[in-house]
Amino acid sequence: MNFKKSQKLYTKGLKNLVGAVNSPVRAFSSVGGNPLFIKKAKGSKIYDVDDNEYVDLVVSYGPMILGHRHKKVEKAAKKALKKGYSFGASTEAEIKLAKIVCDAFPEMDKVRFVNSGTEAVLSGIRLARAFTGKDKIIKFSGCYHGHQDALLVAAGSGLATLSLPGSKGVPEGAVKNTLIAEYNNLESVKAHFDKYDDIAGVIIEPIGGNMGVVIPQNNFLKELKEYLQSKNALLIADEVMTGFRSTFGGAQEKLGVVADITCLGKVIGGGFPVGAYGAREEIMQQVAPLGGMYQAGTLSGNPIAMAGGISTLTELKRQNPYDKFEEIGSVLEVILLETAKKYNVDLIVNRFGSMMNPFFTKNKVTNFKEAQTSDTQKFAVFFWEMIKNGVFLPPSQFEAWFLNSAISKKDIKVFAAATDKAMQKVSGM
Ligand SMILES: *Cc1c(COP(=O)(O)O)cnc(C)c1O
Repeated sequence: MNFKKSQKLYTKGLKNLVGAVNSPVRAFSSVGGNPLFIKKAKGSKIYDVDDNEYVDLVVSYGPMILGHRHKKVEKAAKKALKKGYSFGASTEAEIKLAKIVCDAFPEMDKVRFVNSGTEAVLSGIRLARAFTGKDKIIKFSGCYHGHQDALLVAAGSGLATLSLPGSKGVPEGAVKNTLIAEYNNLESVKAHFDKYDDIAGVIIEPIGGNMGVVIPQNNFLKELKEYLQSKNALLIADEVMTGFRSTFGGAQEKLGVVADITCLGKVIGGGFPVGAYGAREEIMQQVAPLGGMYQAGTLSGNPIAMAGGISTLTELKRQNPYDKFEEIGSVLEVILLETAKKYNVDLIVNRFGSMMNPFFTKNKVTNFKEAQTSDTQKFAVFFWEMIKNGVFLPPSQFEAWFLNSAISKKDIKVFAAATDKAMQKVSGM
């Protein structure tokens, strides 16, 4: 396997692009080496410009849940493309996608479409503040909610990978209403409520996915929701990663919790730029044109993106791949753990359905601090050996791996063989 054309493009890209990328994790900073440039993808496979083939466990960081270029999605997007690209006026497709989304979440009466997860969350936060009339928001250390100023503190993967405490360019004033709590620790939330009486709500990834996969323990989410209700504060579920992935109704359905405001992205557009936030009627009444909370978007509800979303979610519902994800996920988990054991490598695997990742540590990982005990140098070696043996993984210890419904038995064999080589290499460190 060689990466000559990727290396050439990387050098060329450095001139007019920042680090030759448009999103920092793509730069491979934490695993070393140069980033791969992709030529095409189909089903469970992705191909770089040097024509190397990989089993894709990144799937664009989640959206391609049906695998790449599913026939029905491609057909729907092409059909929409022929009618026009953007109108600055409403289309029937927006109503269709809105119904699919609202039907999937029990207390979601209305939804507003935006263009990214970042936009969905920043609007969801604004909505929580508009509805409650309170300013403060609690977020959990290690959770990532997009790159809006107010939430760029203790924000997991990208930032953890680059070891930045937050971000330059974010003024203190922008984060002065942001309070930090520890994941899986209700007491750390209560401590803030004991101190402040102007907390609008708590935003959480119901399954942590941006500090590696971290799962709520012992009814943490249920207890959090009950506590917030008693305090007249809102639970804002950032399901940008888990929505339609954990199961069709997201992590909330799986965990038996209903959030007040839900933010969506990734899978909802099936690879096209779609984000959304939704809630029950009385909350959504705040949003313009019904209410005084302003939020807008030139390309929001874009007809091609809507077609991508409708066809992806319709096919996803038809396939109902969640049992299959559980099955394949547990097979990959066992491969990782048994191979690690074979080569005497300390390894923890966290998995929730089709989201998973290994941590090179002995300790269980239930929050960001514990995630950081993982040996990232071992991960870097593991990562490159997996690449060289045909498995495309996210280039960071703190990013989740994602399954898609096109994964085959043959892909699992490729994964097992690559894992054996990679774990052997790690054991020599
Ligand atoms: C990816 C992600 C976001 C940001 O979405 P973008 O589309 O990248 O802006 C927000 N929250 C969570 C939980 C995410 O995983």
